[in-house]
Order: sequence, then C-alpha cells, then structure tokens
Amino acid sequence: MPYKVRKKTCKKSDGTLGSHTLYKKSGGKLKKIGCTNDPKGAIAARYASERETKMTKESLSNKTIKLIIVPSKLSIGKKCPDATQDLKLNTKNRDASIKAEHIQYGPLNVDEPGDYWKDIAEYWNTTVEAAKKSLCSNCVAFDISPRMDECMPGVTSDKDGRLGYCWMHHFKCHSARACRTWAKGGPIDEDKVSYEWQERNKKSLEERKKKRKKKKKKKGKKDACYYKVKARYKVWPSAYASGALVKCRKVGAKNWGKSKKK
Ligand code: SF4
Repeated sequence: MPYKVRKKTCKKSDGTLGSHTLYKKSGGKLKKIGCTNDPKGAIAARYASERETKMTKESLSNKTIKLIIVPSKLSIGKKCPDATQDLKLNTKNRDASIKAEHIQYGPLNVDEPGDYWKDIAEYWNTTVEAAKKSLCSNCVAFDISPRMDECMPGVTSDKDGRLGYCWMHHFKCHSARACRTWAKGGPIDEDKVSYEWQERNKKSLEERKKKRKKKKKKKGKKDACYYKVKARYKVWPSAYASGALVKCRKVGAKNWGKSKKK
C-alpha cells in the first residue's frame, strides 16, 4: 500500500480544514500528498485514479502499435490494388476481360467449358491440350504472393484451384482459367516481384483511377437543363422528360421552354 493516512489537522486545497493528512511512500519516505475529512474515500479515489492512468497508458500503447502498422501497409506503392478491395471495380474489369476480343477470359464454367479451349487453341494456332496447359496458374501476371493473399477479402481456394490477382487486366482471376494474353513465366509468388509489378503498373493505374473519377463526376453532374426540365414534368424520370432534357441541352437552358411546343 503506497498510501497512508494520519489523523492530523491539515489545510485542504480549497482552504478549509481537514481531519486527516494523506501521504504516499516514495523512496522509503512518506510524502504529503493531500488533506481530507474522508480518509477511506480519499485512498479509494487514489487507487481508482492509478488504475485509470495505467489503462490509458496501455490503450495508448496499443494505438501506437496500430499507427505503426497502418501507414506501412498503406504506404504509396504498397497498398492493395483497388480491384481487390472494390467488388464493383473487380466485376467491371473482369466482365470487360470476358468481353474484349483480344482477352476472352474464361471459360465461365470450368466444368462445362463448351468450345472455349477449342477456340483459344485455334487463336493460338495450337492444340486443345497445349491450350489447356496455358492457364492463369502459370501466367506471368498471376499474383499469389503472400502480400496479395492479405489483400484478398475472402476465401481464395475451391476444388478447381485458387484466386490470384491479374496484373494485366486488374481483377481477381482464377488459376484454372485463361485468357488470350496469357504469357509464360508465372505465377508471382514473392512479395518483392509483386511490388515490382505494382510499381510498373502505377502510372496506368493512376490514369485509370483519374478516368473513373472524371466519369463519375460527369455522370453525377446536374446542369441547368436538369433542374429546369425536372421542375416542368410531374413524372420523373420518364420518356417524355428524357426527350425534353435532350432538347433542352441542344438549345440551351435559357432558350428551352420559350416556344409553345415542348
Ligand atoms: S493475363 Fe494471365 S493472369 Fe491475367 S487473366 Fe490472362 S491468363 Fe489470367
């Protein structure tokens, strides 16, 4: 017990008199630290305050640890690729890779590939058997490094193989699938190589991001015609209102609606 009380008249901090003097042991000596009329209450309050201070120090040290971890994970060039964190973007990039003539990512259903392998073999001018050996799993752009595994938000494996990140087309692709831009040399299974791919892709990824932002901004833009036409039409949106909006944008908001015809 570092605290002691002695029945001794003393002066409290508010200037009134107290019946007991409060001491704390420090280096074998007793040091006066307070004055009170309620010795038990005063000691209990001191212990509670000590506990609180200790807890605050502990939680602060936890926060410090978090602060050290977070910036290192998010430091420029080392953060997870956007498509691994944004399902909508991943789906958009994957769908675009399925549709694009020069990519043709597939087959959609690994168990029922249809003519997929036949078509891609023809495209590569090779046999179906050889085509079936050119998969994401051994493609130079297929990233399954430990750091990329940490970026994956959920389960990465199933009975057919596993997911990895495609550095060519920027989505989570499956090891049992393929695409027309396949290139020998993978997979990427070292963090160092993964970061090198990220560094090489930095410029194009930033440009893509800028384009997405610009598109989003444009899409969400509400001009004078939008407000003017919307105010005129009770049903919104509607085919009539859309037609009027197109006309308004053609003639300008200032001129639209001046003639009798809408
Ligand atoms: S580029 Fe490689 S990793 Fe990406 S989808 Fe094509 S085969 Fe798969």
